[in-house]
Amino acid sequence: MSTHFPHLPPGGRPGIAGKGAIVTGGTSGIGEAVSRRLIADGAQVVAMAVGEEEIETAHERMPGLVDAIRVDVADPGAVGAAFAEADRLLAGAGTTLGILVANAGISIRHRFVDITPDEWRRVMAVNLDGVFYCAREAAVRMIQGDGGVILMTASTNGIVGHPLYADYNASKAGVILLARSMALELAPRVRVNAICPGYVMTPMQQAEYTPEMLEAADEKIPLRRHAQPGEIAALFAYLASDDGAYVTGAAIPIDGGELAGGLASRDWLRAPGSGVAAFPEE
Ligand code: NAD
Repeated sequence: MSTHFPHLPPGGRPGIAGKGAIVTGGTSGIGEAVSRRLIADGAQVVAMAVGEEEIETAHERMPGLVDAIRVDVADPGAVGAAFAEADRLLAGAGTTLGILVANAGISIRHRFVDITPDEWRRVMAVNLDGVFYCAREAAVRMIQGDGGVILMTASTNGIVGHPLYADYNASKAGVILLARSMALELAPRVRVNAICPGYVMTPMQQAEYTPEMLEAADEKIPLRRHAQPGEIAALFAYLASDDGAYVTGAAIPIDGGELAGGLASRDWLRAPGSGVAAFPEE
């Protein structure tokens, strides 16, 4: 993954350079790309995640990372301790928390009638409760400090329904309204936004989808491919920076056009012989 961003000013990006940042799920997939991007933009980044190996290898994989802390975001006591540790680490790096990216999440692919109460609770505990615990820790610090930016990873699945992910979808819809409600209460000192990616090529996606399923999904996306994690990270960086200074309370899809239309836009245009394809099939 490229960490070279030639368009950035030397010394880092205004609004990000010199700030302390916490990225949950920050050592894998989308979160790793966000950590890398914020480091490149001049932030001091502490990543938090639950995977043992991704934490152990974080320093060698991600030069410039302040540290990686292993924590289960579903445990409020552990989240409090991890943020206290992050305070100490960021103080050592000469800064304080100015950016939170609450991104850690899980998904389980299963039919609605097969979802057990324990599975439902775990998905909610990580994806919604975990975002709340981290956002509250961050908000308290930012209100008392110099303000800040809180960004949450929701999903297009939090905006429209998607079969086989009822629990996940409900958790992501919750994240969107959590972000909007916090934005109202915390303005003007703290901006809060939800980012809603569509299909992104990450370990989570590769674990759940076979190559055939990935291909079938790509066929239905107007841009005909998954996003790369770095493309999603670029939106996070925009929102965290001074370029995004007027954006708060927003839920922003970044989805290759997935939400632009309904079923007709997905299937009808490409139906063989429909005669309405904008371009001949390659
Ligand atoms: P990933 O599996 O590569 O990364 C998930 C990260 O979350 C890992 O770092 C993992 O350690 C961390 N995590 C999981 N459970 C945790 C817990 N209990 N406590 C602390 N950390 C925990 O997945 P990804 O695709 O990069 O997903 C990142 C976020 O993006 C998730 O919230 C996911 O729902 C969301 N998302 C992903 C896609 C996609 O297509 N990949 C699309 C929309 C939204």
